Amino acid sequence: MRVGAHLRQDENPVATAEDLGIDIFQMFVTDPQSWKKPQPHPHADEIRESAIDVVVHSSYQINVASLNNRLRMPSRKAVEEQAKAAAELGAIGLVVHGGHLKDGEDAAEGFTNWRKLFERQEDKGGFGVPILIENTAGGDHAMARTLESIERLWDAVGDFPQAGFCLDTCHAWAGGEDLVGLVERIKAITGRIDLIHLNNSRDEFDSGRDRHANLESGQIDADILAELMKTADAPGVLETPADGIAADLEYLRSH
Ligand SMILES: [Zn+2]
Repeated sequence: MRVGAHLRQDENPVATAEDLGIDIFQMFVTDPQSWKKPQPHPHADEIRESAIDVVVHSSYQINVASLNNRLRMPSRKAVEEQAKAAAELGAIGLVVHGGHLKDGEDAAEGFTNWRKLFERQEDKGGFGVPILIENTAGGDHAMARTLESIERLWDAVGDFPQAGFCLDTCHAWAGGEDLVGLVERIKAITGRIDLIHLNNSRDEFDSGRDRHANLESGQIDADILAELMKTADAPGVLETPADGIAADLEYLRSH
């Protein structure tokens, strides 16, 4: 079982990961609220050479499904740039949220846009790292909130070997998916889970709200989270409040 945490951008991530005794860490390669192009990381060599795994989370405003050219085109470019930066750090993948459409837009076009992301990049030789599509918590027009939408998404991207899946447990809960047996139900669709974002939820089931909590202090029974981690056979990354990370890691190791 490989477990770790998302680390803050301003840290020397390998040193912090060693202090925490974790097997994997997640990081951003640019300001996650911006479209800024990633710059070479000051600790790139250490990150690449370390035995501790790294995964990169892409910036938040990316929405490759969008039907709006002025959002979709910079999103594609940002995924390409951030995947390249991730590859330079030796990352196991780049996490990208499923994205969403607007009221009245045709979901089929959003799934096609996901397909086009991989198609276009294949012509350029691929992304350098797998793109781990993450399920999201809210909205009625999300590309990866419900199992039904994930199934349609996978019909569009499933034949690209660089299309991977990241399961966020808080998002699944808040998105209204029963967590018991969820790993099996997702794998039946995607054939793979590459990463788990292990988070509890401050809000109730199907709330649509994305507020993470430490493992033993949210609305989800912590045993269920440990069980998902066990059955997924994938590395797990905590995106929980920093003060409780040490206790969360301890909980996982002892369960
Ligand atoms: Zn997440």
